[in-house]
Amino acid sequence: MKLKGVSTSPQIVIGEVMQYVPFTCEVEPRQLEDHKAAEEVGLYQRAKEAAFLELSVLGEILEKKESSNTDFVAAHQEILNDPVMDQEIRQMIEGGPYYADFAVTSVFDRYRELFAANKNALIQERASDLQDVKMRLLRCYYGEPEKNLSKISKPCIIAAEELFPSDTLCLDEENIKGIITEKGSLTSHTAIIARTLDIPALLGAEGIMGAVQDGDRVILDGTAQEAVVGADAKAVDRYLEKAGNIEKDMEITRLYYKKEPLTADDVKIDLRVNIASPEFDRTDKVPYLDGVGLFRSEFLYLSRKNLPSEEEQFLAYRKIAGIFKEKPVVLRTLDIGGDKQVPYMELPKEDNPFLGIRGLRLCLNREDIFRTQLRAALRASAYGNLMIMFPMVTSINEFYAAKKIVKDIEKELDEQEIAYDHNIKVGIMIEVPSVALIADQIIDEIDFASVGTNDLCQYLCAADRMNHAVKDYYQDYHPAVFRVLRDLASVFEASGKCLSICGELAGDPLAIPLLAGIGIRTLSMNETSIARAKRVICNMRMEEAKALAEEALDRKSNWEIEKLLREFQEKNRE
Ligand code: PEP
Ligand code: MG
Repeated sequence: MKLKGVSTSPQIVIGEVMQYVPFTCEVEPRQLEDHKAAEEVGLYQRAKEAAFLELSVLGEILEKKESSNTDFVAAHQEILNDPVMDQEIRQMIEGGPYYADFAVTSVFDRYRELFAANKNALIQERASDLQDVKMRLLRCYYGEPEKNLSKISKPCIIAAEELFPSDTLCLDEENIKGIITEKGSLTSHTAIIARTLDIPALLGAEGIMGAVQDGDRVILDGTAQEAVVGADAKAVDRYLEKAGNIEKDMEITRLYYKKEPLTADDVKIDLRVNIASPEFDRTDKVPYLDGVGLFRSEFLYLSRKNLPSEEEQFLAYRKIAGIFKEKPVVLRTLDIGGDKQVPYMELPKEDNPFLGIRGLRLCLNREDIFRTQLRAALRASAYGNLMIMFPMVTSINEFYAAKKIVKDIEKELDEQEIAYDHNIKVGIMIEVPSVALIADQIIDEIDFASVGTNDLCQYLCAADRMNHAVKDYYQDYHPAVFRVLRDLASVFEASGKCLSICGELAGDPLAIPLLAGIGIRTLSMNETSIARAKRVICNMRMEEAKALAEEALDRKSNWEIEKLLREFQEKNRE
């Protein structure tokens, strides 16, 4: 059986599947027979010990990975052993007498609600810790095994309904050979993380969860954008041969990593890297990169239980700025909302989160959080060539408001005699059509811009980037996308200010010649796309790219453009 989806890389992996189903349960108020209370207390105690042990093991794994998010392990163990809650649970089991799952749920939920209603943000954050610990404790009580993507016992391909950024942040990179999900798209954050970690992923493969069981062999064929279930030995051999050929071609691609991204007729395209975590420590790669075009700072806020402090952020930003020295590091301020949710911030639920309080809108609503981040960023700017970029800007109003806060903080730092870069550049992401259309009017106000094509396409085509059902409407080769990019390129060229592209389109080997042809000279992409992008650039001529752009912009549909791009690729293959 073959299941179609969209793949993040043209690789083939074959392996045993492991279904990832996060634990959920419905707890009913159930009473026990009196004589069973003591036995039930024993079951509760055993569940508690098992949960404690799981946390200890998780702590060791995270420590080995030098993860910065280990604090929650001890905090969760403390909650498990909290003497007051423990006593209340035991009393409920014995007094009801109730089953332990109901006692645990009642006691934990009562404290969770109390914490959530507290005005103090730190106490509020404890509410989501309680929820997490409660679910772990209940799972251990029911004897359900832990399904945690950070520690997998053997190599496998993960199949899941959907993965969220918090699930994908601490993936076991050694054992997870591939990811197949029912939902998701190429620009979802799961896809972005998979590319960053170089794990092949097939998204939107509807039916995969019903088609496989743990241990089944599955083939993830990134070239045909499909998952193959139940292949016979002969078919497996064919896929193995195909995988071997792809690997040989990738060896050639890898040789390009250290080359300069110069076209065959000597036009330089700056290739910057997108980073999604401060854990980037590949100093050996820095000489072959033209800086960081997108530092997705929100990943510092995800997969943890509380807001990162100013000091923690300062250290993370300073580290990256220091690694890249004089090369630009574009720090994007917090871009939460849409599919990136932070439970401990307890943000109001919205019917249309992608059209709601996202990115800069949220930061202007929560100035306390924004100020902490900007202070950390400005302090880090003394250690390299850091730039500040605001996401999800709709009009010049928000830019003025955000810039004013930057200026306020600069004044504060001056008064405190704290060093920062007095000439720090402040720019915007262009990802909302309204701001793209007034670029010529606002260009004097901003220092630079970077186009977030993932969101720009979603808003231009009115198609949710996460919703598989509208994937055919989300057309990143839509002529409208390239027209907007062409117009932006000419506005920025005339002003001499830098315009880059940092959405997934920038690292798409098919699209690169067209982007260069319309005048884009800076592209920012996942580190794993750099070698392939250089291979494309080194094997094309700018004159031909310009001719391609002219022809493509004349086309009416995405598929006509794609056809042209494929022909260009065939002609210019090394
Ligand atoms: C984009 O929208 O293209 C972008 C780079 O930002 P993100 O994918 O993080 O929304
Ligand atoms: Mg975006």
